[in-house]
Parts: sequence; structure tokens; C-alpha cells
Amino acid sequence: MTVLIPIRPEKSALDGCGVERPILRERGQREVFCGLTGIIWLHRKIQDAFFLVVGSRTCAHLVQSAAGVMIFAEPRFATAIIDERDLAGLADCNDELDRVVTRLLERRPDIKLLFLVGSCPSEVIKLDLSRAAERLSRQYTPHVRILNYSGSGIETTFTQGEDACLASLVPEMPRVDASAPKSLLVVGALADVVEDQFKRLFTQLGIDSVHFLPPRKAADLPSVGPNTSFLLAQPFLTETARLLEVAGAQRLLAPFPLGADGTTGWLKAASDAWNIPAHVFQSVIAPAERRARAALEPYRFRLGGKRVFFFPDSQLEIPLARFLATELGVDPVEVGTPYLHKQHLAMELDQIPTSTLISEGQDVERQLDRCRDAKPDLVVCGLGLANPLEAEGFTTKWSIELLFTPVQGYEQAADLAELFARPLVRRTRLEV
Ligand code: SF4
Repeated sequence: MTVLIPIRPEKSALDGCGVERPILRERGQREVFCGLTGIIWLHRKIQDAFFLVVGSRTCAHLVQSAAGVMIFAEPRFATAIIDERDLAGLADCNDELDRVVTRLLERRPDIKLLFLVGSCPSEVIKLDLSRAAERLSRQYTPHVRILNYSGSGIETTFTQGEDACLASLVPEMPRVDASAPKSLLVVGALADVVEDQFKRLFTQLGIDSVHFLPPRKAADLPSVGPNTSFLLAQPFLTETARLLEVAGAQRLLAPFPLGADGTTGWLKAASDAWNIPAHVFQSVIAPAERRARAALEPYRFRLGGKRVFFFPDSQLEIPLARFLATELGVDPVEVGTPYLHKQHLAMELDQIPTSTLISEGQDVERQLDRCRDAKPDLVVCGLGLANPLEAEGFTTKWSIELLFTPVQGYEQAADLAELFARPLVRRTRLEV
């Protein structure tokens, strides 16, 4: 089913003339990974957390193959397999789950935060993981905090796994009232190196009370209250942002920190909220911003004028298209995204050329036809579409790589551009 609807975006999401921009909405067959995929980057981020997927062998294979085989380290994720006996109701899944968790926690005293991660099979048999988490929490508090969220692939896309995980942390965050000092919360998993760079810049700006969600250690879960302002570091955290707002925190309107412009706009939002004078802001960011612009210059030459087509997958598509268009002169032909949160993306949508078709949701066959007609230089898509498109002669980029690679901030701007330039170089070499 395809619907072309002119939506009325936020004022800043309108094009320069204040004209509504049409969004193509499609609700057909989709090609996306499920939310379990988020475990791959989240388990690296929260260093004393463990992710126990309650699912099938398929779920176990997905997580294991996406993560690669961890031979040298104690893994921090696993799958409790629901087998045929459980499906037939012959075994009590809850008792079995309690036994698995007990064995795990006895063997791994380093685990301080355990996520029970739901899957399609656990949802189909209606295994109530929130009750299981409550029951087990009573047993293991205060040594281990046990939470649950769903990574199921039913009607979701893979970055929603992070949103669901972070949303499960929000109720656990200590609440503070209006007498608490002003603090900044950066929301969304960032590579440690990126987090450290941002923290240094905030400190130089004079913003000292900065916290990150998720934290690196379970015990460092930041507090939240009316004096908390938060910056989204990722565009797919709809539910987490909603819950933070319910807890009294204020979302700062900002673009996402991709590329030099995006990073400057993102930092500026915090700087303005802290009333930092413009000249101080400029003097703090100028060296890193200059380095980023210089590093991007060769990519303007390599990528400028190239036509790129985004299939909906990571929910990073809109900010990425803005970065490619405004900072590298790329022509985004179509930018597909699984879900379009027009408030969170207002400052990004504003900068995407009006000639670009923005689509939300997917009807994969129709979208493939549009892609073939457009004959783009580069297609950004999920793994499932990449190989068939390569076989048809298209040059592709796996969107999931953008989640596994540190790409935010000034120092990573050129690395982000390189991710798009590399497949084009590879194609040229193959054609020689
Ligand atoms: S959660 Fe669902 S979509 Fe994801 S691997 Fe398991 S069965 Fe497949």
C-alpha cells in the first residue's frame, strides 16, 4: 500500500518558502533486521551488562553471526533457547528461565545489569518477561539489576532495539527535583572515543555536569529531573526521549552530530541552553571544526555530484542525507527511513534538497523499481538488499556499518565520508 501525503512538518522542517514537503508513506513488505541487532553495540558500551535473549535458535544465530565469534573474552550476551517442549506448553518456561538466570549469575559475578531481551518467539508464546524481570529482581537486588525489553522483529526495525533498551533504563534513573543543579544528558550509545571528545568540548565550553545514557557502568546511571536538558545523539530514540520528557527533562532542539555542520549545530544547542557567549563557543570549537572541514575537502571532490539512494533501514538516513548533501555536494535521490519523527528531525529535514523524495516505511518491490529507474551511483541499504543490488550492477553500502563505526563528532567526519566513498572506489577498481 502506498500513500503520498503532504504532511505539515514543524516550521523548521518546511522548505525555504514555507511550503509543505510531500512525504511518500508506504506500508508494504519490508526488508529490515530486528531489534536484537542492537545488542552488538550495546554490550560493548555498558561494560558490566549482560543481554540474555529469550528466543529461538534463529535469534541465537542472528546475534552470534552479527557479533562474530568471541573466543578470547567472556561473552556478554547469550540466548536462552525456547524449544519445542516450551512451545507445546510441556515445560514451565518461567521456571526454566529462573534456572538459566541463576546459573548465569552464579558463574558471572561481574554482571551488574541483566537485560532479559524478548524476541518474536517469546512474544508469540506470550512469555511475560517484565514479570520475570520483577520476580528475579526481588531475588538479586541490590547486587544485580534485572530489566527487560523487546528486540522482536515484529513491526520494528533494528535500531529500535537500542531505543527499547534505553527506554527500559529511564524508570531506573534516580529522580531529582528542581533544586538539583542544571545538567546535560547525552542520549544514545556513542563509541567511548567519541564520548570522550564530546566531554572535553563540553568542559571547555564550561558545561561540567554532563552525563551519558547509556552509562559505561550500570552503577553510573544518571539522575533526571526538571533541570536536566538532553541532547539526542541518535535519531531513533523516540520512546526514550518521550520517557525522559515525562520525567521532566527538556529536549534541546538540535541536528545530529554527523559531519562538521551537524556537530557544530548539536554543540551549539547545548551552548545556547547554558547561555555561553558566541565568541567563547567559536573559540572552543574552531580548531576541531577547522580540522573536520579540511579533512572533508577531498571527499567533496570524490563524492560531489554523486547520486545516492537510501533504502529505509537504520533510521539514520535523514541526518546522513543532510550531511552528504550540505557538506559534500551529494545529490540524495530518495531518502527512505523506516519511521520519520518530524520533531526530532526538524532541523535535518529543513536542509535536505526539495528535489529529494523522502519516503517513510517500505514497499520493497516498488522501491526497488524506483531505485532501478533512478540509476543512482550509490545505494545505501540493509544486508538483505545489498547482494541482489550488487548483482544487478549497483554499488551499495551496508547501512548497519554506520552503527558499528564511530561516525559522530568532528574527528570522525572524514571517516563518515570515507564510508560512502569506499564502495565507489571499489567499484572503479573492479571495472578497470
Ligand atoms: S527476534 Fe524475531 S526477527 Fe529477530 S532473529 Fe528472532 S525470530 Fe528472527
